[in-house]
Amino acid sequence: MAHDEHDAASRIADAGRQLVDLAARVGDDDLTREEFDLALGEAGAGVVRLFGPRPRSKPGEGALWKILAYFQEHPNEWIWGDELRAVAGIGTWARRVRELRVEHGWEIEEQGDRYRLRSLDRNAEEAALWQLMNAIRRRPGSGKDRVAALLEARVGHVLTRDDLDYVAKIKEGSRRWRELRDEEGWPIESHVDEPDLQPGQYRLVSADPKDRTDPRQRLYPEKVRARVFERDDFTCQDCGRNREAAERAGDRRFYLEVHHKTAVAEQLDALPASELNDMSNLVTLCHEDHLRLTAEFQGRRRDERAGG
Ligand SMILES: [Zn+2]
Repeated sequence: MAHDEHDAASRIADAGRQLVDLAARVGDDDLTREEFDLALGEAGAGVVRLFGPRPRSKPGEGALWKILAYFQEHPNEWIWGDELRAVAGIGTWARRVRELRVEHGWEIEEQGDRYRLRSLDRNAEEAALWQLMNAIRRRPGSGKDRVAALLEARVGHVLTRDDLDYVAKIKEGSRRWRELRDEEGWPIESHVDEPDLQPGQYRLVSADPKDRTDPRQRLYPEKVRARVFERDDFTCQDCGRNREAAERAGDRRFYLEVHHKTAVAEQLDALPASELNDMSNLVTLCHEDHLRLTAEFQGRRRDERAGG
């Protein structure tokens, strides 16, 4: 061992012995914090002598992982903010805790000035979603464009009103989902179409332009659609499938539409509301069967006209 190393080692060992002595006195009235600080300072100085000054790193970068390591050593324990400051060695530890939570997906609970890591399993999906939402939120364009981008990026997954509002960056931004559905026919489900969804949850079933819904679905008020689907138990009255059955069979593009039994598309616009929304004329079909039955019906009408 070189002279410097020997010197450093004995300083660290000295400080260690002081700490052991101090730990034995925990509970004594005359024990002060300053005595601990002195011993810790001496240990730190020994480490500097051993390794030299710490190389400059990006501010806070190392601190993030020190905080995480400390949380992982104490899962489910409440930890004071001051502890994290001591561990991280920086004043901006609170920002690092937030980063761990929202950007890296760690489940860290906050209560007053205390924090607790609730699980050693990181919620990686949450973290990925957060990064995606921030990337979309920074994009130029309209709120509706950004809502559309998020729905497309998360096709088949449930998004919340808060998610949509966040990327839209405008008041009531989440309402843009309805414009996409009603004006552009995007098959976006809400709790009205899909009993597994809660109010305020939305899911784009398919991003394929071929799967855009019948644009006349918007003629049916939301309440009417809800009543028809509920009456028919969210099941296509032609093929007998519901979402669960469709997914079991590998069909991830299943969604429901309201079908009018007596009028076809172009007649619907002209129907009085009472006739349009008469429950006995309406039935639940899956998109696929709705397309097929509508085409058949229109084919028959063409034949009838041609025939006479
Ligand atoms: Zn069907």
